[in-house]
Amino acid sequence: MAVSTSTKMLFSKITCPQITLHGDPIFATGDNVTTWISDSAFAQGSMKAVYEIAVINQPHDDTARYVAKRFFKLQDDSWSDLDNAHPLDLTKVPAEFLAEAHNAQIQHEQTCLARGTVFIKSFYKFCHENGVDEVGDPSPASGMKRPAPELENNQGASTESIPMMGLMWLIEKRHPSQRIQRFSRTLEHATPHSDQLHLTIYALQRFIYRYSNNELVFADLQGTPVTTVGRNGDLSTGTVLFDPMTCTRTQGSGIGNHGPNGIQTFVEQHQCRELCDTLDLGTQFLLNPGKDDTAGYQLGDSGSDPGHVGDD
Ligand SMILES: [Zn+2]
Repeated sequence: MAVSTSTKMLFSKITCPQITLHGDPIFATGDNVTTWISDSAFAQGSMKAVYEIAVINQPHDDTARYVAKRFFKLQDDSWSDLDNAHPLDLTKVPAEFLAEAHNAQIQHEQTCLARGTVFIKSFYKFCHENGVDEVGDPSPASGMKRPAPELENNQGASTESIPMMGLMWLIEKRHPSQRIQRFSRTLEHATPHSDQLHLTIYALQRFIYRYSNNELVFADLQGTPVTTVGRNGDLSTGTVLFDPMTCTRTQGSGIGNHGPNGIQTFVEQHQCRELCDTLDLGTQFLLNPGKDDTAGYQLGDSGSDPGHVGDD
């Protein structure tokens, strides 16, 4: 019988509360948080392993359970076959890289999530302005999760060989559902589905491409169903998207970023569907770069600040 053990660990919290007009992250350092972290992972993705953490002295108004994610490899060699990632021995998840290289990827992840939050808020605002409200309210459950607080591991089990620098972890709320829906893959953006959820995310991807002034594409979108309690106490269901990848025109060093080729794949594959048409995304938002811009995210925009879009 396996006995589950955990280790006390002090995290120092790093959040990404804001994204600049250029799409760059602004990180902020917060409090230290003492936790117990499971010695073994309980799940793995294609590149990250997931550990349970229990927060000591958790505030009473926060009953959420959290998980901590870290990469176990930094080479994206499985992108063509993400659902068939090699199963790991979850009791001994490797970390054969320098903490510095790992942490840079965690910061890419956090930036990606913070950008996603900006895009989703802007998308809902855009839908509302175009008379489409059926896609739902801009609640946390309705789209990308909030920017996950990113914590730094000061004494983690996996860092014995890297004494000089702690490992950064991605801390996220734990969602009870084991069900995962995949909406797109790294280089595969078409969807055979016609339900509201799939069409919403399909249109969202189109919106993001244009809202970023054709600078980036969200790929590899997957989500899990959640139930949330609204301010009035009503329960509502939604989908939390997690572990997205981005392809950017300036390729950068993020894992899974296929750069201009990844963007071109999206442009070639995306055929507007019902919701895109309802929102007039096909005509308002030319798929091919060039031409005049109407909204956006990049330098020179005199309109909304993406860090605040949707907050009003
Ligand atoms: Zn479309």
